[in-house]
Amino acid sequence: MNKTKSTLDRIRELALRRGIILPTAKIYGSLAGSYDYGPIGSILKRKVVALWRDMFTDENTWEIDGNVVLPRQVFEASGHLEHFTDLMVQCNNCKSILRADEVIEAQVDVNVGETRKERMKELFTEKTINCPVCGSVFEDVELRPFNIMFNLDVGPTGKGEGFLRPETAQNMFLNFRYTKMGVKENLPFAITQTGKAFRNEISPRQFLYRLREFNQMEVEIFGTPEIFANHPALDRDLEITFLPKNGEKAFRSNLGTLVTEGIFPNEYFAYLVGKAATFYRRLGIPKEDLRFKEIPDEDRPFYSAINVDVEIHFSIGWKEVEGTAYRTDWDLKRHSEVSGEDLDVLYNGKRVIPHVVEASFGVDRSVMAILEKAFHKKEEDRKWKWLELPPCLSPFSVAVFPLFDREELITKAREIFEDLTSNDIDAIYKEKGSIGKRYRFADEVGIPYCITVDPTTLEENSATIRDIKTKRQIRPSCEKFSSILSKLLKGKAIFKDYTEGE
Ligand code: ATP
Repeated sequence: MNKTKSTLDRIRELALRRGIILPTAKIYGSLAGSYDYGPIGSILKRKVVALWRDMFTDENTWEIDGNVVLPRQVFEASGHLEHFTDLMVQCNNCKSILRADEVIEAQVDVNVGETRKERMKELFTEKTINCPVCGSVFEDVELRPFNIMFNLDVGPTGKGEGFLRPETAQNMFLNFRYTKMGVKENLPFAITQTGKAFRNEISPRQFLYRLREFNQMEVEIFGTPEIFANHPALDRDLEITFLPKNGEKAFRSNLGTLVTEGIFPNEYFAYLVGKAATFYRRLGIPKEDLRFKEIPDEDRPFYSAINVDVEIHFSIGWKEVEGTAYRTDWDLKRHSEVSGEDLDVLYNGKRVIPHVVEASFGVDRSVMAILEKAFHKKEEDRKWKWLELPPCLSPFSVAVFPLFDREELITKAREIFEDLTSNDIDAIYKEKGSIGKRYRFADEVGIPYCITVDPTTLEENSATIRDIKTKRQIRPSCEKFSSILSKLLKGKAIFKDYTEGE
């Protein structure tokens, strides 16, 4: 059968070919739901996290770096032991075990809540739903809950019980008191963390979308309902596409209106939603592929009073990449009750348990979104696929090549490379392989500009700069490289400005 490749398959191939994203333990046949970041992917991931850190570090924000193994009591208190479950369904024919809500949603035009067991059972009976693995129809299904936390035997006796954290958030609640004390903060203040989280997903799939080991970037702002009512830096005019929980169509609205109409609980929540919108726009996600979905009450995580997810339109449909939640005082209250520690603070002369608004971003889903939006199939203008990344995410801003393997050209190209680097331009130097292969490398990993040093460079002290998008070239004198590239990279000029008149 000649099956056409999906966009994700093509991206997966490119990512493997160029050391961007690699299946974990590939030489042993890979590990389901697991990917490694290769050399180019690691740079991309680092740049995503750096941009996030830059955008989410306001005044009074403190980053921590917590342990991934946490004791059982943490999850008794947080509710994850009891509630962090997905319903699974087993196919009677091929015995595959799958996530029930995903099987239904892929075949029936309905949004089932992860928690509504009875409704899901009804759907398996009412509709003809096929096993996605072997194709047989599901009959007499049993839906069983499965807690998706990884349980560990800790220490040589195996008696210590630990869990791999399913979200980075818990460290921030556990360390709330000591962070506050250590940095002498008063409410409101925020704690952030980026790092690994682990979920024993029933059916990991769709490239970086559903992994068992993944990366999160989370911010928890601690305050009170009164504090959260007004945010001094809220951009009330910022417009988003909002999909309400009542099943009505998505509409455009500004953040101010969503607060005034009581759809958002407070301005701090709206502020985080606005930041998420700006963050994804900077990652190169077009406005029309970005929407904010209010989660229906029955689907909301157990700890949250309101949840609004960022969804991006991927080639596989609209998919969640981030969640903004008003966690109220749930977490600190529960940890205080179970640990016996006072987690209340003095605020306006009263002792209060702080409330929390949270934004929880997936690094890997963000990287997948970046790759999807940057990816260009092989077209007539070039024989290979290429990535059009926002300049701030490109693994390198410019590649410098000597045209041939000749000493004078190599010396000159190296000089240009050093000069760019000393001017803080993120450059890479490559001399091996034909020039076509080196352009292909640059295109496939998303380097926006290439400088090629040729024999004329030695005579005239000029060289070509090639633009990834148009493949057009300009030939300025070498002293101008840094200033031209700085302008292009900062968006202060476009390539066309220089090609006019060429
Ligand atoms: P889903 O409904 O897709 O399982 P979730 O609502 O449980 O996701 P959250 O608990 O809100 O996810 O986690 C916050 C973010 O962490 C998600 O928006 C996503 O970007 C990321 N994330 C969660 N689970 C995974 C996973 N298994 N693989 C990759 N990223 C994940």
